[in-house]
Amino acid sequence: EILAKIRSDPVRAKLPVIILTAKGQDTDRDAALAGGADDFLTKPFEKEEFYCRVYRSVTNVEQIRKITRAAYTDQLTDLPNRLSFFTAAPELYERAVKHELPFAVAMVDIDFFKKINDTFGHAGGDVALQHLARLIETTLSDVDVVARFGGEEFCVLATDLDPDAAPTVFERLLSAVEASEVHFEGQSIRFTLSIGVTTKAGGDLDAVINRADELLYEAKQSGRNQVVIEPGETAGGTR
Ligand code: GH3
Ligand code: MG
Ligand code: MG
Repeated sequence: EILAKIRSDPVRAKLPVIILTAKGQDTDRDAALAGGADDFLTKPFEKEEFYCRVYRSVTNVEQIRKITRAAYTDQLTDLPNRLSFFTAAPELYERAVKHELPFAVAMVDIDFFKKINDTFGHAGGDVALQHLARLIETTLSDVDVVARFGGEEFCVLATDLDPDAAPTVFERLLSAVEASEVHFEGQSIRFTLSIGVTTKAGGDLDAVINRADELLYEAKQSGRNQVVIEPGETAGGTR
């Protein structure tokens, strides 16, 4: 009964539970473990054994937290990764569409990133990616989800965003990147971004991401270092 209560409480559902009881029958132990207990100890018990079991339970929880965090984080930039994006974003997107709330999905890509790698080496490219991640965090602090999708590509979902504000938000990131430089082994690395943004609902999140990707391609084709926003959807239009 205690276990069922603990497991049904969202705050305590993942807490490690050690059952400490005078009921030492095999069937009692089986019932406790089957009911979701992590460990089982019968009275009378040795203090030392009790502490060892508590310590092991706490260590397990810490390990699981670390592994879970690692699974959802991009190692290089410490931003959420693709898995993290697709865990959080679909529900937020569906909710925005259902309640007809404004939203924006953006694909962000570094211009001529291969050239940065060629000029400064892969380590230089990595530093540029980390630098961009910090700029993304500071300039896009209000968005719901931002993740490194892979390589030098980042995906953003912002819901409940004033449609007029969408261009400004991404232009701000563009300007911040353009104005900044990264110091690497006594040299200065500078780069620009291209960004495709759609604020128009059309199908599921995958479809909207594909649309943002097409707009990113347009930004590249039109000379890079620019934001291309789904035409006709926002007051800002295209740059
Ligand atoms: P464009 O302006 O058209 O986007 O050109 P680009 O050179 O930025 O694009 P492209 O997709 O051709 O090159 C991306 C490069 O990113 C190729 C790949 O070697 C590099 N890359 C991918 N992941 C990493 C990484 O984690 N670190 C570094 N340093 N480079 C990476
Ligand atoms: Mg690129
Ligand atoms: Mg790319």
